Amino acid sequence: MYNIVIARYGEIGVKGKNRYVFENRLIKNIKNNLKEFTKLRVYKDQARIYIDIEDNDYEEIIQQVKKVFGVVSVSPATKLEADYDLLKKSCLEMATEKVEFEGAKTFKVESKRTDKRFKLTSPQMSQDIGGYILSNLGDKLKVDVNNPDFVVYAEMREENAICYVDKFQGYGGLPIGTNGKAMVLLSGGIDSPVAAWLVAKRGVEIEAVHFHSYPFTSERSKEKVKDLARVLARYCGKVTMHSVNLLPIQKNINQNCPQEEMTILSRRFMMRIAQKIAKERNCTALITGESIGQVASQTLESLNVTNAVVDIPVFRPCIAMDKTDIVSLAKDIGTFEISIIPEEDCCTVFLPKNPVIRPKLEKIVGSELKLDVESLINEAIENMESERIEP
Ligand code: ATP
Ligand code: MG
Repeated sequence: MYNIVIARYGEIGVKGKNRYVFENRLIKNIKNNLKEFTKLRVYKDQARIYIDIEDNDYEEIIQQVKKVFGVVSVSPATKLEADYDLLKKSCLEMATEKVEFEGAKTFKVESKRTDKRFKLTSPQMSQDIGGYILSNLGDKLKVDVNNPDFVVYAEMREENAICYVDKFQGYGGLPIGTNGKAMVLLSGGIDSPVAAWLVAKRGVEIEAVHFHSYPFTSERSKEKVKDLARVLARYCGKVTMHSVNLLPIQKNINQNCPQEEMTILSRRFMMRIAQKIAKERNCTALITGESIGQVASQTLESLNVTNAVVDIPVFRPCIAMDKTDIVSLAKDIGTFEISIIPEEDCCTVFLPKNPVIRPKLEKIVGSELKLDVESLINEAIENMESERIEP
């Protein structure tokens, strides 16, 4: 029955002169997410994007298109020649399916007439099509304009006619690639993938840096983070991931600094290293999954002390979110099941028994004087491994 998928976009419609840049990028990103399908044409028409289904499964196409940031909603639809009687028949067919397969009992019709030569106005069209549906299904179906079980959307256009009944929500946001690039500090936990996803949703391309303590942490724990990056890549197209071994630095801290400062000192190294890689890779911001008060290293004092080593913006979209909200988002985007696989993390390797909760910047800076910070950072980056992760 369906032969096209309609993708609607919201915010980018109001971007003035930039609009074409955004639209073209959106089309490119949709095409990229559909590259495994054959014979697909993706095109723009009157502020909407259309995808010809051809021989593909429309439900699979919808799943893919929904993941493209910038898409507000998606509908499977039928495109016909500009013939009003055919349009009515198609509307009836869709209403019949809703009644028979979903047990719908109430409906309304919403019409659009972009072909001004057409004899009926939009309200007249809705009335006429509604009447036609009732004359065929009147024993099972009633009109309810306020809270219908489904809506039949009918459109008479110059070149063709379109009808559909379902509208599936996308995530909105802006197309990836329209707002620069940022580097996420990606752990194997629940929060940082969600943080990356939230920033990516605003059109920001993502690279990731992961810190491990191999061989104290396993090869598997690195793989787990790559799996997380792969889920993110379903939304972002691709994610370049850098893996950095933090163990030499942790050993150095362990030998030279107070044990309770291990976590905060490691976090400062992570931020410095992430910033350095970010600058080399044209990323103009960092992203972390920090959330106020979640653990000792996330008090305001600790956040200030970790933040003090960087001079580019650090985005922390989870900062004010409750864990339950982060978890439900993680489930929705598909990272949760991977995040909860138990694997050791580099932070747990030298975990202090009583980490400082309210660190003083001067004291932490004092401790770092015992370390050769610059060469530790350079060495870590020299030994880093980088890989492009695709969905
Ligand atoms: P997450 O669930 O993201 O692991 P968390 O609640 O465990 O976060 P922390 O361990 O304090 O919190 O880490 C705070 C942030 O620091 C993480 O969200 C992440 O951005 C970054 N981070 C922590 N460990 C690593 C790591 N091994 N590699 C890269 N980034 C890390
Ligand atoms: Mg963690």
